[in-house]
Amino acid sequence: MLRVGQEEIDAIARVIRKGGLFRYPDNGIGQCGLFEKRYAEYLQVKHVTMASSGTAALVAALAGLGVGPGDEVIVPCHTYMATVVAVLAVGAIPVIVDIDESITLCPEAFEQAIGPCTRAVIPVHMWGLPCNMDAIMSISEKHQLLVVEDACQAVGGAYNGRKLGSIGHAGAFSFNYFKNMTCGEGGAVATNDNRVAQKAGCSIDCCRFFWNPEDADLYSFSASGARASEIEGAMMNAQLDRLDPLIALLRRHKKRILTQTASIPGLQPNPLHSAADECGTHTHFLLPTPAAADEFATRAGGTVCGKTGRHTYTEWDYILNHRAGHHPAMNPFTWEANKPCRKNYSPDMCAKSLEILNRTVMIGNNVDRTDADVEAQIAAIRAAAPAVL
Ligand SMILES: *Cc1c(COP(=O)(O)O)cnc(C)c1O
Repeated sequence: MLRVGQEEIDAIARVIRKGGLFRYPDNGIGQCGLFEKRYAEYLQVKHVTMASSGTAALVAALAGLGVGPGDEVIVPCHTYMATVVAVLAVGAIPVIVDIDESITLCPEAFEQAIGPCTRAVIPVHMWGLPCNMDAIMSISEKHQLLVVEDACQAVGGAYNGRKLGSIGHAGAFSFNYFKNMTCGEGGAVATNDNRVAQKAGCSIDCCRFFWNPEDADLYSFSASGARASEIEGAMMNAQLDRLDPLIALLRRHKKRILTQTASIPGLQPNPLHSAADECGTHTHFLLPTPAAADEFATRAGGTVCGKTGRHTYTEWDYILNHRAGHHPAMNPFTWEANKPCRKNYSPDMCAKSLEILNRTVMIGNNVDRTDADVEAQIAAIRAAAPAVL
């Protein structure tokens, strides 16, 4: 959550007073429809469909692209577990690969991991940091892979001027409480492909074709229920109005921190892709050793990237223990179609990434910080550095 206030209260109150909470009104366009149109314009994509969560949006993106049993999907070893869970939800098998010092998918590790069953890759713009999309897109093109951007943590960010989530074949966004725009819980999927948008829409709403008769030519399939409501749509319209100024503020704070700590001997920020376009939600520093990172995090008021729990593969017991599906027969790890897929995970399979993550300290940024607060943060970094470097 960056900021929520009177505008959201008013927008929701208008929906409740009007009485129509369902997203497909009898005539005209509702708040969800309006947000989808506005966010598509913002992203410069043809289609956006709202969902009840970022996880549902990732599942919809993969389903929309036709990813399923027999397919391997390459996923970075540092992301929220929903990224891998979404792969299993469509019956495919995640292949976990290294990140690099940018804390995003390592393009070389990605290319090396491509095998005969590889169908797609999910670059994750983790902590608002853009992946190396030029490298990832060109490798994907060379090997004819589908690209689903997980932009759940990078709403409002861009890569060389193009909005994150708009570059691959599909993009997924989360609007849960912790993300850059929020309606409590929510998400969206973006794509330029009409057919992919229709199928993604069917994954989000199994009755979609009843409400959107123009899509009835598409064969529909049984899926889940993850439709957004007008309350969420109204809130997202208010949130979209706030997004750019808030991201600009975060970038200004971060630039100040980076500029004023650049002269500290030995203190190294993590490398950034498309530095001017990233979200600025966190500042990352790469320390020489894990012990130095622990000490620096305590003194400067940050978190060691490898110690955030759910965000690193070593914590994903669903994957490590092949525990997927609510029913034994619904576990993609056991399916005949997935026999050729690689699924031999181990806690040390991405040791190089663990070493980087345990040396990286991230310091959270915040739109409610004053310039004086930012100066105090800089002073804390200055004071902490000599003790650990
Ligand atoms: C938040 C998040 C998701 C899923 O979002 P929900 O809305 O909580 O389902 C997926 N991937 C990443 C990287 C996230 O941070």
